[in-house]
Amino acid sequence: MIILLKADVDPESSAINQLVTEAAKYPGVRAEKLVIQGATRRLVEVHLIGPTSTVPMEAFAGHAVVERVVRVSERYRTIGRHKGQAPSFAFEHNGIAFSQDSFHIFAGLCAVDSKESVEETMRALRDVGITTTRMGAYKPRTSPYDFQGHGASCLPYVFELAGKYGIKVISMEVMHEAHIQQVKTALAQAGQPTTVMLQVGTRNAQNFELLKAIGAERMPVLYKRGMGITLEESLNACEYIASCGNRDIVFCLRGMKTSFSEPHRNFVDFAHVPVVKRQTRLPVCVDPSHSVGRRDHTVDGLQDIHHVTAQGVIAGANMVLVDVHPYPEKALCDGPQALPLQDLEHFVADVEIVRRAYKERIGLAQAHAKAAS
Ligand code: PEP
Ligand code: MN
Repeated sequence: MIILLKADVDPESSAINQLVTEAAKYPGVRAEKLVIQGATRRLVEVHLIGPTSTVPMEAFAGHAVVERVVRVSERYRTIGRHKGQAPSFAFEHNGIAFSQDSFHIFAGLCAVDSKESVEETMRALRDVGITTTRMGAYKPRTSPYDFQGHGASCLPYVFELAGKYGIKVISMEVMHEAHIQQVKTALAQAGQPTTVMLQVGTRNAQNFELLKAIGAERMPVLYKRGMGITLEESLNACEYIASCGNRDIVFCLRGMKTSFSEPHRNFVDFAHVPVVKRQTRLPVCVDPSHSVGRRDHTVDGLQDIHHVTAQGVIAGANMVLVDVHPYPEKALCDGPQALPLQDLEHFVADVEIVRRAYKERIGLAQAHAKAAS
């Protein structure tokens, strides 16, 4: 059970402490106060954990500070929407706001291969007005003989260049608790010129110990859906992060592994954008690069990567994670799917058209609903 409190309620007020005490009187029930600080609003909730099915909602619903009482309907209790009753999360890091209404393009290197690549990429991002990127330092590779990423050694120049080019948030995959510490140390040594969004790769989607370690941090998280498990299983795994206290999560769709996806690398699953937005309180990202995996042009002059990006954005995606590279043919990881930097401006302009169309569709739907009521 979740007790949503009114907007102006002080989380330290005696009224809330009284609610927590009252809730804890039910046998086996534990009450936990949550304060979720967003860019424009602060949500305060009391979560009742344990055998709550016999706890009457009326016991709390009439309380002066209570907005609404929600009976938990999904196992992913914290990130769940619970039939639309719980509002979406909104959070901000280094001036970049995330919610189910925000929109950002995280374009960058799948793997950092050289300082020059990082600098050329960040300069191109600055030139098109993008302040969010992806930079892979630790790379999970199918073969142990493939390039595994430069690891901690590249972090000083990645962070220094981020500061130089005004990059506010960098999505970076971590595969081990030690990587988180290396990132934090390097950020501190560089003087915090940017923020890192801890990326959970699809291969670690159910690495519960890693998820718990990330849940204990106060950094934003990009959680990538497991490529071979159900959406429900991915959502439950993602809940591990939230259950440990970190709710600043963006849920990323990146395609599903199946031979039916051919000629694409993975089967594009962006029809799940509105599903995840309905089922969870999280902003949703799409990764067209790892879904499609190749830079094929189609007959209309656009690439499959443009088309699947558009499918995600027209469905309301809040973030696009896309691979770019100054010289894709020389990239040490995933070169065939990276857009060359000279195509970045076109990609961004194309995405902006689709985002505008999405907003127009929402306006139309709202007008239709108003007229029908
Ligand atoms: C990546 O984004 O670099 C990556 C490895 O993606 P995924 O975990 O989705 O395969
Ligand atoms: Mn990759």
